[in-house]
Amino acid sequence: MSDTVKYLLDESRLPKAWYNINADLPEPMAPVLHPGTKQPVGPDDLAPLFPQAVIQQEMSTEREIEIPEPVRDVYRQWRPSPLYRARRLEQALGTPARIYYKYEGVSPAGSHKPNTAIPQAFYNQQEGVKRITTETGAGQWGSSLALAGALFGLEIAVYMVKVSFNQKPYRRAFMESFGATCIASPSNTTEAGRAILAKNPDSTGSLGIAISEAVEMAVQRDDTKYALGSVLNHVLLHQTVIGLEAMEQMAMADDYPDMIIGCTGGGSNFAGIVFPFLGEQLRGGRKVDIVAVEPAACPTLTRGKFAYDFGDTGHLTPLTKMHTLGSSFVPPGFHAGGLRYHGMAPQISHLTHLGYIQPRAYHQTECFEAGLQFARAEGIIPAPEANHAVKATIDEALRCRESGEAKSILFNLCGHGNFDMQAYTDFLAGKLEDQEYDEAEGAMALSGLPSVG
Ligand SMILES: *Cc1c(COP(=O)(O)O)cnc(C)c1O
Repeated sequence: MSDTVKYLLDESRLPKAWYNINADLPEPMAPVLHPGTKQPVGPDDLAPLFPQAVIQQEMSTEREIEIPEPVRDVYRQWRPSPLYRARRLEQALGTPARIYYKYEGVSPAGSHKPNTAIPQAFYNQQEGVKRITTETGAGQWGSSLALAGALFGLEIAVYMVKVSFNQKPYRRAFMESFGATCIASPSNTTEAGRAILAKNPDSTGSLGIAISEAVEMAVQRDDTKYALGSVLNHVLLHQTVIGLEAMEQMAMADDYPDMIIGCTGGGSNFAGIVFPFLGEQLRGGRKVDIVAVEPAACPTLTRGKFAYDFGDTGHLTPLTKMHTLGSSFVPPGFHAGGLRYHGMAPQISHLTHLGYIQPRAYHQTECFEAGLQFARAEGIIPAPEANHAVKATIDEALRCRESGEAKSILFNLCGHGNFDMQAYTDFLAGKLEDQEYDEAEGAMALSGLPSVG
C-alpha cells in the first residue's frame, strides 16, 4: 500500500463547461474602472485588446460556460490530467494526513497555462485576429501561447521579463520552436520600454513593464490583440477545468479535501483547483480550508493593500480592485519567476478580503528544500512556483503528525521544473539567497496608488 496511487478519468469525463464563480459570490465584486474617466468599463473599452467572446466571459455571471468542441479536442491530448495520492511522501513524512496532488505538468508546455492559452487562441482565430502580443515572466505563459498560436495559425509576439530571458534560454528556444517571437523586456521596441530604459538602463524588467509593452503593441494594429495568462476572470474561468476534474477524481478516491493549497502569482492555477470546491461551499455544500501561498519577497496577499490599481507599470490597463504592492514595485529576481507580480486576481482578492482564503508567504530556499523532498519521494521535480504549494502541504502534513489529525490535503502541482534546472543548480550549490520584501521600496510603490473617487 505504500505506492503512489494515480486516479485517471477517461476522456469521456473531460468537463463540457468551465465553472464561473461570479455566479456564486456572496457579495458582488467592485467594478473595473476606465483608467482615464474612472468610470466602470464596458465591453467597448476592452474591444481593442480582446475578442468579443473573451470580453463576454470576463463580464459573465452565468455559472457554466460551455467549452467549445475544438478546445476540448486539444485538451484531450493531455486532459483529464492525473490526480495522485502521494503515499510515498506521506510515508517519508510519517504523517496520518492523506496528501493528494493534481498534476498539470503533463501538458505540452509543462504547466497549467495551456488550459487558457488554447481557448484564447481559438476565440481570437474565430474572430479573424492574425496576431497576438503578450508578456511572460518565467516563460511558461509565452511557451503556452506559442504552442496555441501554432495550433490555431496565429502569429505570437512575447515580451519576456529580462531577468528570466537571461536565466532561462531554453524557454525562448521553446517559444521560437513553435514559431513565436520572443523579446527581452524592457525593450526599445515600445515607448513604455524606452521610458524605463532611459531611467534605468540595467532594469531587469517586471511583469508590469512587459504587460505595458505588449498592450502598446496590440493597440497599434487592427489585426492584433493582446492575451493575458493570469489575473483576469476569463483566465481563472478557463483554469477551473483543473478543479472540476479533481472533484471527480477525489470522488473516485472516496475522499473530499479538508484543505486545498495552491501557489499564487496572478492566481490562475490556484483559482483553477480551488473555485469549483469553493463554489460548492458557497452554495451551502461542504466547507474547505483554502490556503494561497506566495513568495515572501513579493507578498501581494499578505502585505499588499486591497485597493484600486493598474495591472501594469505604464498605466495602460483598466483599474481593478485587488491586493497590490503598487504597480511600480519591481520584485527582486528570485527564481519562481511566475510569482513575480505586483497584483492579484480581483476574484481572489475579493474572496480573501471576505475571509474565504488564507494567504501565507514563504522564502525561496525553504520552498526548494520542500520541492526536493517531494521529488525524492514522488519522482517529479516541481516548478519553483509549485514548490510554494509543496512547502505549505508538507508543513500541514507535519502539523497533522503532531496533532494526530488525519486530514485530507489536496494541492495543485501546477508544473514541472524540467526547464528550471538553473534554479536547482543554484540551490544545490548553496547559492540561492532569501530576499526580503523591501519595506521602503514597497511603501514608495504603494504611495503611488491611483486615487479613485
Ligand atoms: C505562471 C505560473 C504560475 C503563476 O501564475 P498563476 O496565475 O498564479 O497560476 C505558477 N506556477 C506555474 C508553473 C506557472 O507557469
